[in-house]
Amino acid sequence: MTKQIQAVRGMNDCLPNDSGIWQWVENTIRQVVAGYGYQELRTPVVESTDLFKRSIGEVTDIVEKEMYTFADRNGDSLTLRPENTACCVRAGNEHGLLYNQQQRIWYMGPMFRHERPQKGRYRQFHQFGIETFGIEGPDIDAEVIMLSARLWKVFGIAEHVTLELNSLGSNQARANYRDALVGYLLERKECLDEDSLRRLESNPLRVLDSKNPQVQEAIKDAPSLMDYLDDESKHHFEGLCSKLESLGIKYTINPRLVRGLDYYNRTVFEWVTDSLGAQGTLCAGGRYDGLVEQLGGKSTPAVGFAMGIERLVLMLQTLELTSQVPKPVDVYVTALGESTELYAMTLSEELRDISSTLRIQTHCGGGNMKKQMKRADKSGAPVVVLLGENEMQQQTATVKFMGGDKAQQTIPKSELTNIINEYFEH
Ligand code: ATP
Ligand code: MG
Repeated sequence: MTKQIQAVRGMNDCLPNDSGIWQWVENTIRQVVAGYGYQELRTPVVESTDLFKRSIGEVTDIVEKEMYTFADRNGDSLTLRPENTACCVRAGNEHGLLYNQQQRIWYMGPMFRHERPQKGRYRQFHQFGIETFGIEGPDIDAEVIMLSARLWKVFGIAEHVTLELNSLGSNQARANYRDALVGYLLERKECLDEDSLRRLESNPLRVLDSKNPQVQEAIKDAPSLMDYLDDESKHHFEGLCSKLESLGIKYTINPRLVRGLDYYNRTVFEWVTDSLGAQGTLCAGGRYDGLVEQLGGKSTPAVGFAMGIERLVLMLQTLELTSQVPKPVDVYVTALGESTELYAMTLSEELRDISSTLRIQTHCGGGNMKKQMKRADKSGAPVVVLLGENEMQQQTATVKFMGGDKAQQTIPKSELTNIINEYFEH
């Protein structure tokens, strides 16, 4: 037999059984961002490699070992986007959306990182994110966090996530801190792994982001960035904290939180959960006031976050919070007996003409009552319309309500929509 071709490792199909929850999650997210007046920005999944090198940073996990980079047929180095903030800034600069303006942007789509696939970590994964430009904050920092907090409320997982917050301060503050951190790490060199030793030379703050437990233990008592904050950043951070408190959004300050990308300054945050095992970060973001300029635009303050949709879906499934996911079929229309097929089809079309929201599946392929009812059952439709030769001759329909104790009834076909709508309204 011919060998079957399989999907690329770490890249998943979203099967019909799962696409319902995905669509529900995506639609709910769209509703939430609309409630804040954000607009969507869609960018290509492929960008120039330089875009990510210059933004995320040469000495980061993503750029060092996770990017899908290839030469196209012209020999240009291209990369499948590993994240979307850099792409939004690139597009914003290119189309003049940023300088001297305010923008509130959202995006959703696939990202690509060559990581070791495991639960909650894939090579093609999906992010929803928001980016705001042109507002110095901290009011907008609070809005960005508030929007994420609303998502947790809407999805019913607010009790299962906690907010960790830190400030990275100005470039100068980080430079001062860097010296203190290097001093501390040099005294503990024997506890550092190969990556961390290299980073100690090239980008010491990255050591704080290490996932290696031994390294994490070693940096437990490292000097705190908080003690090195410049006055303005401190003021900004206090402003954000007090706003979050007034808004009733709980947080903990985590002075080790630096995030895995180099472009952040001041506010950084992560929403973490213990419902996902090792992949505990659901959503992460922060301020990146230098990035627009770094990518060739005029200096523009910015703040945003990205959330992993696979991790959110996984959480909703684990916590069994999927009851709001709509069933794919509302009404299953059977065609029993000879020559009823056309009656079933036209009647289904009439129903669709009247109601654009009802999901109606018409039985195809014939078969006896038992077979058709089995299909109806499998479709999950709460309402089944039984159409036999009697119904066809008298232009009626028999309606059966699955589950519950509402009696089956035969009615003129003109009354069908009313009865079905009435049923779904209750
Ligand atoms: P992690 O610490 O889990 O590696 P990260 O710091 O690399 O995350 P970001 O680049 O900040 O993650 O991306 C934001 C969010 O995107 C993460 O919090 C996570 O929910 C999701 N995410 C990141 N990488 C993956 C991946 N490989 N597979 C699935 N989701 C991911
Ligand atoms: Mg990562």
